[in-house]
This record gives sequence, C-alpha cells and structure tokens, in this order.
Amino acid sequence: MRLITGTTRRSILTLLRLAGIILLVLGIIQPIRSQEKVTVQKVVIDAGHGGKDPGAIGKHAREKDIALDVALKLGDYIKQQFPDVQVIFTRKTDVFIELHRRAQIANEHKADLFISIHCNATKSATPRGSETYVMGLHRSQTNLEVAKKENASILYELDYATVYEGFNPNSDESYITFSLFQNAYLEQSLVFATVLQQEFRDYTGMIDRGVRQAGFLVLYRTTMPGVLVELGFLSHPEEEKYLASAEGQHKIARGLFRAFNQFKTGLEGSIAVVVEPDSSATDKPPDQAAQTTPQVVFKVQIGTAGKQLPKDAPAFNGLKNVGFYRHDGLIKYTIGNEKTFDDALPLLELAKQKGVKGPFIIAFINGERVTVEEAKAVLNR
Ligand SMILES: [Zn+2]
Repeated sequence: MRLITGTTRRSILTLLRLAGIILLVLGIIQPIRSQEKVTVQKVVIDAGHGGKDPGAIGKHAREKDIALDVALKLGDYIKQQFPDVQVIFTRKTDVFIELHRRAQIANEHKADLFISIHCNATKSATPRGSETYVMGLHRSQTNLEVAKKENASILYELDYATVYEGFNPNSDESYITFSLFQNAYLEQSLVFATVLQQEFRDYTGMIDRGVRQAGFLVLYRTTMPGVLVELGFLSHPEEEKYLASAEGQHKIARGLFRAFNQFKTGLEGSIAVVVEPDSSATDKPPDQAAQTTPQVVFKVQIGTAGKQLPKDAPAFNGLKNVGFYRHDGLIKYTIGNEKTFDDALPLLELAKQKGVKGPFIIAFINGERVTVEEAKAVLNR
C-alpha cells in the first residue's frame, strides 16, 4: 500500500492545474475565438526603429525614415478606402519607441492586425527584394540574422535585460525559446504574409523573397495576426534608390494596401475594394520602367450605395465579381475590368439581362475616373 504524502499530493495538484491550463489554451480558447465574427476593424501600423535607432543604413537613406514614410502612406490609403477602419500608428514622427511598447500599443487597442515595416541590409550589395516574416523558429541562418538585426533595437533601451527577461538579441541560444512558441494567429498571419508577397511580386515588381519565419520580439509580444515586412535592401544601390524615392514608396504602400484589402475582404466575406491600376513609368522599379502607356480600363456601373454591401447582396442581382470605387462619399458598384469599350458591351448586356436598372459603361485612366470619350481618345492615339 502506498501513502500519498502531502508533497506528492501538492505536485499532483500542480500537474493537474498545469494540464488544465494547457487544455484551456489548446482546446477551449480556440473554438470560442473561431465562433466570433471575424472582422478587421483595427490595424496597427508599426514603422520600425526611429529617433536614436536609425535601423539599417544605406549609402543615402536610413531604414527609420523609409519605414515611417511607407507606414504613413499605407495608413492614409486604408483611411481613404475604409473610413470605418481604425488605423493606429506606433509612431508618426521620428521618435524612439521600445519594442515591447510597440506590441503593448497593439494589444491595448485589441487590434485585428499588426504590420511592422522594415528595410533589410547585408554586407553584400547583391541581395535585393522583399520578404515577409511571421513569428516562429527560423529554419535558416539568414532568417536568424534578420531577426537578430531587428531585435538588436532593444540594445537602445535602458532596461532591456529586465524587460526582456535576459533575452540577448545577439546570442543564438536566446532564440531557442521561440521553438516553444504556440501561435494562435499563425494561420491568419500566414494568409496576410502570402498575399503581401504576391502583391510585392505582381504589383510593385519587387523580387519575391518569400514568406519566412523567425523570432522577432515585436511579433512575439503581440496577441493578434501580425507580420514583419522587410520591404527591400538598402545595401543594394538600385533598390535603395527606389525605396527612398517618392514613387517607390507610393507603389510599395499601394502594394501593402492591396494586401490589406484582400486580407480584410477575404476574412469578412465582403467584396474587394477596386484598387485601380495607377502605375506610371516612374512607379516601377528602375529596371522595369519601360512601360509608359497610360492604363485604360472600362467597367460597367451597376449601382450606388451609401455603405459597403456583402458580395451576395440582392442589389447585385446575382452578378459575380462585383467591385466598387468611392466617389463623392458614395460607394459605386461595378463589374468588369476591360481593356476596350467594346469588351465592356457584353457585360452591359449581362447586367441588363439580370435586371439591373440603368447600368452604364464608365472608364478610368491610371485609376482616375474619366469620361468614356477621353478613354477612347487615349486608346486611339
Ligand atoms: Zn528594422
């Protein structure tokens, strides 16, 4: 016969409690969360570095300045297209913000998405392109090096040893902690990271260096889907020029916005905002600046509403792939994305057949609404 001593009983109780906590974390929190309606109403945009911490330094440009410019532009685009979305910046000026404070800002606001914006640099001038990180354990030394470089920001903080519980950004051992990291938001973070890289590749024309994982303190401490994006390399002379230029930053911020748009509308099951092609020759990276012709697009307008409608709204009469643009405070719904006026005619017919009242063809040049005659004139040139 065995006696259970007081000490053993206590350790069993402790074990049971621990098991309970683990079950709670794994089994219960997840289902509750998944029953909630998923929306993206609050986004935190985090411009990396700032103040005494310049981040990576190129020949002419500094990471902290580019990150801030792109962050502010992205925030503007989101506010313009989604006036209901709350945009929170961790910084709007050139100030130093501690890494833990950035995460805290996002957590306090109960944000739905966290986007940390950075630029890369290496000793070699050859690497170029964009990469997006989600929290996790690095699978390659390259990824670890990027995390080390970004986490080294805490060395500018006065009390980093206490705040980060002895974490040493430069020691490989410190990163083993991240192998235990369980991320409830990994799936959504990966979705956002993936569409972001797609936009970098297809829209901005940057080289796609892929979605990666590494242990970033700023992501480690945030409790929502989040990514850290390395826009490009300041150590690559041409890419530095592009990243520092107004056109480059505009294009990159548009790419980030397009990814946000896809992520939000995808999660919410609402229709995607029409992001008009707005590229001109200078918008392209230097080696792809060959295209100079204005982009003309014809669509069929099927209706106007004061608010955003779900994609299966009765007002759309069963028409698929409905897009919209905002004009004069109203949302105008469209179908099609055609190169010529004649290509839009069958869609006009289709809308009429489906019972849409008074559909008509509209035109855009480089994303600007113009008259159909103006668009035709540009095509005839
Ligand atoms: Zn950085």
